Amino acid sequence: MLEAVQTTGVAERETGAETMAREAILLVEDEDDIQELVKYNLEREGYRVTAVGTGEAALQEVARRQPDLIVLDLMLPDLDGLTVCKRLKADPETKGIPVAMLTAKGEEPDIVTGLEVGADEYITKPFSPRVLVARIRAVLRRCASPDTDGAETVLRRGDLMINVGRHEVRVQGRPVSLTYTEFRVLHVLAQRPGVVFSRYQIVDAVRGEDYPVTDRSVDVQIVGLRRKLGSCGRYIETVRGVGYRFRTDT
Ligand code: CA
Repeated sequence: MLEAVQTTGVAERETGAETMAREAILLVEDEDDIQELVKYNLEREGYRVTAVGTGEAALQEVARRQPDLIVLDLMLPDLDGLTVCKRLKADPETKGIPVAMLTAKGEEPDIVTGLEVGADEYITKPFSPRVLVARIRAVLRRCASPDTDGAETVLRRGDLMINVGRHEVRVQGRPVSLTYTEFRVLHVLAQRPGVVFSRYQIVDAVRGEDYPVTDRSVDVQIVGLRRKLGSCGRYIETVRGVGYRFRTDT
């Protein structure tokens, strides 16, 4: 109660502003200058940042105190980012923490793997601090406020069941583990079977506006999605030169 009273002034000054962010972010980056740059920019946005330089230190820190989001570099001196991410996503205690992965240019295969092991976002180095902050804000926003409009909605198409409110997907009754973005892509398509969505429409529906996405990242999501959906992967149809649609003849 006392705390609430003491912080009222701050809250009032920032009402309606995007600077209300006070989430805790764990930054895992071994290069000092990049760590410094990212930390500085996130703290300037009001985030509370804890920075560590190794994968082991990251896992220890998460066990000690769970952050609201992890910014995870791919190449680390001990455990690499993929391993760290895989471990976090395999643990029911930590699987819900969003992970934004930092990758260098030309590490496309690692991006795909990163998404497969459950990373929620990837940011390619070199990045502008503005883009980095915008993407992290977007991840936090979409993870903090899952669709409430579909709290009780269940979509069924053939062997596929999508529980929108629970963010749960099943194929022939078996649960399929999707990342947040994969789920959103699937939801967008399956909601309107037969309708062709361009990559940009998908990007818009999934991300919001403050995110510069390429066609390619949608393709990456679709590849991962099809693979995870197994026999239901064929429900997502490529419409050459246009985009994707959910098949009506499932
Ligand atoms: Ca590194």
